[in-house]
Amino acid sequence: MLVDVFTEEGKIVGKQRANRKDLGYERLAYMANIMLVSIHFCLLLIFAVLRIYPMLVLNLISIVVYAINFYWANNNLRVFFYVAYMEILIHMVISNFILGWNFGFQLYGFALILCSYYGDYISRKIWNKTIHPRINSLCVIGIYLFLYIASFFIEPICNVTSTAASIVIFTVNAISVFVFMIVYIENYRAIVERTENSLIEAAEKDELTQMHNRRNMQERLDYIFTQNAGKSEIAIAIIDIDDFKRVNDTYGHNAGDLVLFEVAARIMEKEAPRICACRWGGEEFLILSTGEGAYQKLVGIINELVQRVRNDDHVYENQIIHVTISAGISVWEKGEKIEHTISRADQYLYEAKKAGKNRYITRDRIW
Ligand code: GH3
Ligand code: MG
Ligand code: MG
Repeated sequence: MLVDVFTEEGKIVGKQRANRKDLGYERLAYMANIMLVSIHFCLLLIFAVLRIYPMLVLNLISIVVYAINFYWANNNLRVFFYVAYMEILIHMVISNFILGWNFGFQLYGFALILCSYYGDYISRKIWNKTIHPRINSLCVIGIYLFLYIASFFIEPICNVTSTAASIVIFTVNAISVFVFMIVYIENYRAIVERTENSLIEAAEKDELTQMHNRRNMQERLDYIFTQNAGKSEIAIAIIDIDDFKRVNDTYGHNAGDLVLFEVAARIMEKEAPRICACRWGGEEFLILSTGEGAYQKLVGIINELVQRVRNDDHVYENQIIHVTISAGISVWEKGEKIEHTISRADQYLYEAKKAGKNRYITRDRIW
């Protein structure tokens, strides 16, 4: 996953791979731990009321284990995971021996299977190591069936005959497991959705400037031309930062990136429903304007941009950098391919450069 990289002034200058703290796994582990403590606390109260002391002690031990696990949730997720996994497994087995099958402690086996797969997902993401969820799940299934069969042959240690107690404890266990499963599935779905969205964003956006990328603009142009050919006015501007190589050479590549980001932000300020900008290449941008008066609107926008960028200060490590831009604006002529309109804008841009930069040229005249 990519996260923003900031300058000291708090400006975004790029993206980098997130470290695991940023992914929020610790927060998730913390929440899971709160849930587990709450379940045990609830059981503790029930067993205190029913005076089933072995279960009271067992739940007390579990609460202590999870209290310690808050530390591991923040410091070592792998230890956290193993402690939680073993506690649930051991608690499930011992509770079955103490109370028997009718109290529903075996249901935690279902949660354990989900837990192993989730733990494995996180483990492979963070440490690139599997925790063998299939083997874990097979063990859980084996233990589950063993407890079921054993319940026919081994008498529970505490013989609780109250049906009401059985109903209450079974219900608490069933609800806890179902809630755990819902939280797990919702969390997993959120991860999938986040991943999908970031992939879509990465495919459509330029990482450095956060503008639409060339591919996205190309798709937009294709769409306009298949859906809307000839129905509306279309104007295109190509903008290029002047002497940008000099910025990189003089102040360094990072300074160049900052300037690119800030010029892009200026251009993006002009985006509107029928005005769309993209990073077309290295230090080149394309603005697409459609609809009635598209050309006049675009000329106005470029005129403003050339002046604004000329006056903008770009501050990098206490140095002020100035840049200018040049642009070419063309209008789509009926019947021509959009590539021709773009190359005409490119041609005008080239002429603007030749004419001394820091200006724009349209089909009508030099500005
Ligand atoms: P001109 O006025 O004729 O456009 O001159 P120029 O120096 O802007 O043009 P040239 O094509 O010679 O150089 C463009 C430079 O832009 C070279 C390249 O290293 C730099 N560049 C392209 N993409 C990036 C980027 O993402 N970050 C930085 N820092 N520099 C970039
Ligand atoms: Mg340039
Ligand atoms: Mg260029």
